[in-house]
Amino acid sequence: MPIQILPTHLISQIAAGEVVERPAAVLKELIENSLDAQCQNLLIDVEHGGIKQLRVRDDGDGIPAAQLALALTRHATSKVASLADLEAVTTLGFRGEALPSIAAVSRLTLTSHAKNGDGSAWTLAGAADGDYAAPRPAVHPPGTSVEVRDLFFNIPARRKFLRTAKTEFEHVQQVVRRLALARPDLGVQLRHEGRTVLELAPLGTEPTALLPRLAQLLGEPFAAHTLRLDAAAGELHVQGWVLRPAFARSQPDQQFFYVNGRMVRDKVVLHAVRQAFSDVLQHGRHPAYVLFLTLPPRQVDVNVHPAKSEVRFRHSRQIHDFLLHELHKRLAQGILNLPVVPPVIAPARAPALTIAPTVAAPAVVNAPAAAPRQVNDERARYQIEHTLQQPLIAPTASSLEPAMLAPAPLGVALAQLNGVYLLAQTATGLVIVDIHAAHERIGYERLKTAWLAGQVARQALLLPVTVPVSRPEADVLVSHSAWLQRLGLVIDRIGIEQVLVREVPVLLQHTDIKRLVADVLADLAATGYSTGVEEALHAVLATLACHSAVRAQRQLTLAEMNALLHEMTTVARIDQCNHGRPTWIAIEQRELDRWFARGR
Ligand code: ADP
Ligand code: MG
Repeated sequence: MPIQILPTHLISQIAAGEVVERPAAVLKELIENSLDAQCQNLLIDVEHGGIKQLRVRDDGDGIPAAQLALALTRHATSKVASLADLEAVTTLGFRGEALPSIAAVSRLTLTSHAKNGDGSAWTLAGAADGDYAAPRPAVHPPGTSVEVRDLFFNIPARRKFLRTAKTEFEHVQQVVRRLALARPDLGVQLRHEGRTVLELAPLGTEPTALLPRLAQLLGEPFAAHTLRLDAAAGELHVQGWVLRPAFARSQPDQQFFYVNGRMVRDKVVLHAVRQAFSDVLQHGRHPAYVLFLTLPPRQVDVNVHPAKSEVRFRHSRQIHDFLLHELHKRLAQGILNLPVVPPVIAPARAPALTIAPTVAAPAVVNAPAAAPRQVNDERARYQIEHTLQQPLIAPTASSLEPAMLAPAPLGVALAQLNGVYLLAQTATGLVIVDIHAAHERIGYERLKTAWLAGQVARQALLLPVTVPVSRPEADVLVSHSAWLQRLGLVIDRIGIEQVLVREVPVLLQHTDIKRLVADVLADLAATGYSTGVEEALHAVLATLACHSAVRAQRQLTLAEMNALLHEMTTVARIDQCNHGRPTWIAIEQRELDRWFARGR
């Protein structure tokens, strides 16, 4: 076949392959256009999961009759005119490809009443060859409606990939949910087969206006057990809500992250979040969150994905550390928002990845600068035992006379229930503490703090271990050996693709050193950071803390119970035990009153 230029319609159909995967993807593009047109209300009508019909009506600026055909033309947009515009783009759309692509694979009708137009509405149907007739008069209030019928009617191969109407509608709902979470100021109505499925009244524009919607869109548990986050560093700002780790989900289905208002799935972000949750999450559980990151548009490239669902940060390392730091801190503070200082081992900083920042990089660290001392096995064991033997529940002056002090966040002890639970009275109701779980977390955090206080004891290996690695993995040793030493690992390069492990943290001497070092170096080479050593250390410390924590069933005195309640307010991540289970819950008096039908 000779080389030839493809017909317009075929170009659009090929392009549609990237953007229009299923009805939900069409809806996403239509909604983004309505938002870019400054609408306040959206009416979304869906039939047969969106396969038969999708209609979005908005009350935005509208499109003048003379430009209707242009809106359906490839590479025509009102949103950018130059490269400079593109680099600072703040609209959700900018490619000028969505409408023509959708029109090429469906029966599309565009109807609009421009606010600054001739005061009337006009309609135009999509045309296969891009050759449009004149628009016809129509009846429509100010704003725009786009109707998309019979998706993929002309592309049978694509049609086959569509799922049942039910499944497609679930995807449609997810798109609506994403939008509604990002814009509490917007009124949204969603109808399926003529039935209203979702109706959201417009709320305020301030971020906290979203709260009532969290319950409506993500369920009561999310709203009831959520932590509010609001933090800034330089030009970076993150705000939103994080579900308490003790209530984490069995599926990663409630993870909403927005960059400058655009919902994205980003590897850097996902990694930072996962790492921030690493020490508080039950095994196999997934964090749930709705978070909004804002930063100057020039620091993020949104033009890296046809459906614009990925972005690229100019200073991705900085974004990663900022998110990790703020989330980690917030999780450490927990539901009581206590001013606890989270002990974090600084992630390795790869010089090559630290681009000259325009924003002051947030310090993620309070790790000690002191070089670790080499100690023998005996001494390390002593340190651990000593740390754990400090009485976890020593009564202090303040805990002995709680009634005379300011109200304690976790209240005043009343009794112990069946040896397992502690009951306490607070200003607003009842607190129930799982004594063993609380002790476990306290012991664990103490161990970690002691460990980090410049005492990462190293042990020289009698027989140094040779580890075969790739060349880039061996190369990272140059930039990271000081950091590795702080964590107790002394490693030398002994060949192009070979390293020798000479010293290891005492606590890890019985683990599979070869594998640990191979994993850590692979992480460092690939991403510039690794939490391998930290995780291995945490695992050992958590086991120690678990075994030494008070077993259930022991009778505590009231003074001991109050001491425990007090201690709990000084420890990071106290809301959940080492295994991610809750350590305490509160029952509000209001709830008790409801049970007993009081005050009705
Ligand atoms: P893009 O959004 O990337 O500009 P689209 O193909 O999605 O490309 O839309 C083309 C143009 O049509 C937009 O730039 C905008 O001017 C106009 N348009 C599309 N939908 C709407 C709408 N709902 N309200 C007002 N104008 C719209
Ligand atoms: Mg668009």
